[in-house]
Amino acid sequence: MPQIIDGKAISTQIKDELKSRVEALKAQGVSVCLAVIQVGSDPASSVYVGNKKKACAYVGIKSLAYELPEETTQEELLALVRELNGRKEVNGILVQLPLPAHIDEDAVIRAIDPAKDVDGFHPQSVGALCIGQPGFVSCTPAGIIQLLKRSGIEIAGRECVVIGRSNIVGKPMALLLLQENGTVTVAHSKTRHLKEVARRADILVVAVGKPKMITREYVKEGAVVIDVGIHRSAENKLCGDVDYDDVAPLCSAITPVPGGVGPMTIAMLMNNCVEAAAAR
Ligand code: NAD
Repeated sequence: MPQIIDGKAISTQIKDELKSRVEALKAQGVSVCLAVIQVGSDPASSVYVGNKKKACAYVGIKSLAYELPEETTQEELLALVRELNGRKEVNGILVQLPLPAHIDEDAVIRAIDPAKDVDGFHPQSVGALCIGQPGFVSCTPAGIIQLLKRSGIEIAGRECVVIGRSNIVGKPMALLLLQENGTVTVAHSKTRHLKEVARRADILVVAVGKPKMITREYVKEGAVVIDVGIHRSAENKLCGDVDYDDVAPLCSAITPVPGGVGPMTIAMLMNNCVEAAAAR
């Protein structure tokens, strides 16, 4: 039987550690505050924003919610970001993506003060990650590194294959695994012989956005499989990019969906907020 990597338990452990750090900061007169901006009322985004607020309340972080109408202009949104950049008591600014089509997401991300970029999406944060300098790291891949480390899984010297090259998951994931001295391959939609490439992995991270695409033919016996995907079926059941029932018997360790990577993303967002406040 594989080790089931319990993201729920590990994320709670991290949030409890952060709770103590927030209390210690408060004792020094430093409070932690996250501003969350949502434009429009996309139901999935509303769920994510609600979960972030709940996590803030748990850890003791103050959250400011800005729920803007769908027709908000880019200029209005940029003006709010600039205002929050200038407010001393705000440590972190998060703009929930995706934004409506009439707003240029890159322009909004670039407008966030890198010192408050708790999502780690600003080009300055990404550049710092690339050259191994301190900066905020995208929360999902940072959470996966914590899952591996806190589950006692060695990364150094091992074959790591990341399937997916998005800016928020695949690319930063590859950089973090490299930083941990893994031997990293990035596969994507144009990769030839994907099954063979994936079967090289001691650690396989899957972020393709295709429900249950990864079956046992993609997995080497004894591999660690990390499933980033999250999908809701017509019957309202959650599943990942990995066909869990097919793959799990083959693995040494695997993340379930739900309860694997998902809770870690929010825990790392909380971590970045606390780091932002501590750095100030
Ligand atoms: P994305 O759509 O931006 O990127 C998908 C990547 O997969 C692309 O780089 C593409 O090249 C690659 N790909 C697509 N089809 C492929 C194929 N057939 N073979 C090989 N590669 C292929 O997605 P994303 O934002 O990186 O997210 C990936 C998944 O992770 C989604 O299901 C998303 O919902 C989920 N996600 C979960 C969390 C979380 O907190 N759990 C956070 C972010 C994303």
